Amino acid sequence: MKQRMLPIILGLGLAITGCGYDTLENTSDADAQGHTAPTQATIEANKQVLKELPFNNMEDFEQANRGLIAREDSLRIKAPKGAPNEYVWDQDAYKFIQGEAPDSVNPSLWRQAKLNSIHGLFKVTEGVYQLRGYDLSNMTIIEGDKGYILVDPLTSQETASKGLAFVRKHLGYKPVSAIIFTHSHGDHFGGVLGVVPEEERSTVQVIAPEGFMEESTSENMLAGPTMIRRLAYMYGLNLARSERGHVDTGLGKEPAFGTTGILAPTHIISQTPQPMIVDGVDFVFHNAPSTEAPAELMFYLPKLKAFCGSEVTSRNMHNLYTLRGAKVRDALAWSNAIEKTRTEFHDADIYFASHHWPIWGNDKIQDFLKKQRDTYKFIHDQTLHMAHSGVTPKEIAEKLKMPEALRTNFSNRGYYGTVSHNAKAVYQGYYGWFDGNPANLNPLPPVEAGKQYVELMGGSEALLKNAQALFDKGNYRFVAEVLSHLVFSDPSNTSARQLLARTYDQLGYQAESGPWRDVYLTGAYELRHNRPEKGFNPAMAKDLLMHAPLEKYFDTLAVRLDGAAAEGEEMILNFTFPDLDVTHVVTIENSVMHHHIGEPVADADATITQDHETFVDIAVELMTPVDAMLDGKLEVDNLLAMRKFKSMTSEPDFTFDIVMP
Ligand SMILES: [Zn+2]
Repeated sequence: MKQRMLPIILGLGLAITGCGYDTLENTSDADAQGHTAPTQATIEANKQVLKELPFNNMEDFEQANRGLIAREDSLRIKAPKGAPNEYVWDQDAYKFIQGEAPDSVNPSLWRQAKLNSIHGLFKVTEGVYQLRGYDLSNMTIIEGDKGYILVDPLTSQETASKGLAFVRKHLGYKPVSAIIFTHSHGDHFGGVLGVVPEEERSTVQVIAPEGFMEESTSENMLAGPTMIRRLAYMYGLNLARSERGHVDTGLGKEPAFGTTGILAPTHIISQTPQPMIVDGVDFVFHNAPSTEAPAELMFYLPKLKAFCGSEVTSRNMHNLYTLRGAKVRDALAWSNAIEKTRTEFHDADIYFASHHWPIWGNDKIQDFLKKQRDTYKFIHDQTLHMAHSGVTPKEIAEKLKMPEALRTNFSNRGYYGTVSHNAKAVYQGYYGWFDGNPANLNPLPPVEAGKQYVELMGGSEALLKNAQALFDKGNYRFVAEVLSHLVFSDPSNTSARQLLARTYDQLGYQAESGPWRDVYLTGAYELRHNRPEKGFNPAMAKDLLMHAPLEKYFDTLAVRLDGAAAEGEEMILNFTFPDLDVTHVVTIENSVMHHHIGEPVADADATITQDHETFVDIAVELMTPVDAMLDGKLEVDNLLAMRKFKSMTSEPDFTFDIVMP
């Protein structure tokens, strides 16, 4: 086997590419990253926000600080070797978030950013604690008879183990008796191996919703490379943590990028309600599939009257569609799951969740749950209501206004999801991408459209002049649209890129949603500095890949096939894993790759023999195929066939251009 064969197969190659465009000069009003000063129009727009929301209501701050047991003055967690940043977690970087909002941050987002900066170990109620601000998500600690029941062990092993050590320092040492994964998103399971040492992995109880393993390992593999690239936009991974950079995601500060892993569940929650005693503690589980995640649960601790909303409920409007790119979520199922738990656990006195801070008091919890329920149902129902009169997605997104009771309640604000992109998601879920207008059926792709628009608008100089005039009037949304045509028609036009970057700065500064701000500011950053040179380090995902079903790898392999390169080719390969006693037979015909588990095909073009770990090690680039062959860990009986196979596949690009062609 030659070169980086298996990394290609798994789509986890580390892409390092350059970009041909000059980086732009900083202007006099720019910060170190090039982000320009907020304009008068932005300052005024952000001032207006102060008039629209009850900023003098400090209840959220009281709740977010209530029950504090301990807080570390400095909270920095070193990243493992090979991670993108020096620290896998750095709360200290957010110390600038205090006092009044600067002109370059929407005051409503600033408020949420302040709340999400409150970190430490907190007592929720007798026997229930939360570690907040050690990752994007919370880790909840429930005292059992024999040890700690940990709910959602964070995103990375580094943050989770540091967090647990802090818990033990203040609550005393106890083993981990059980793990509850509330859902299939990485920030709720990725750190598990950091809190369950190797020798305890076979005895710890692991509870997860139905479909957990399938969902937690599927979404991120097939669609992974594109999602990872877009994740950098959505979470502002390459932005400075600063007044003109990243301040918050809305849901929490940011996801920790460290070593991930997973553990297979020992107990599956498939019913509602599903009572269970976990390490001596009474639980009532509620299976809530197809809500915020495809596999999700909520639970109630009846003796404590404490309800865990997982991520089905949160202290902001969540995403019916997430900007990193994912399948749209079912607003109705989501709303219904909230209502079902609200009525079933109607006597709850304490609410806590996988993100944000708790609520104490039955009335407040009921009010909160009703408003969460109605946020998603309102967007769902009113989107369809408008669509039935022919209103199209962009128009719905513009027109749809939440009722005052929801609009003025901070927990329903669009810090993470927004009314605009969630309404489009509902439309998309029912009607797909096409709005019915023939003009939108087959439009020209961006570069070709860009060239023709520029010509139609009298050439690049005239367009730029007009765009500048619109910019001066604060018409940033339209400026972005027309300048994007110019940049796609000619990315070497530095004036166009500079003005578009300035435009994205202003759109970012005005955004209330953390992801919107980060998407705009990352766009501005990349227009100025080009796309990142380094992609994703696959070694971080080894533990996760070791637990993912092999079939998923082969599904991913099929996506790597370059249809044009495979034109007219036919091929059969046996991938044999003696330690798993299984062979995956891969077939190529009609420019399509299939795979199945079965007997090795006798006259296959090649047979590749390796154990599971070698396969994964090569995939995550901890081992080269050549080294694996020299070590006797990998056997390939026909290198020529493998080379041909390689020529028909291509590596995903984790650094592709987004704001330029
Ligand atoms: Zn989460």
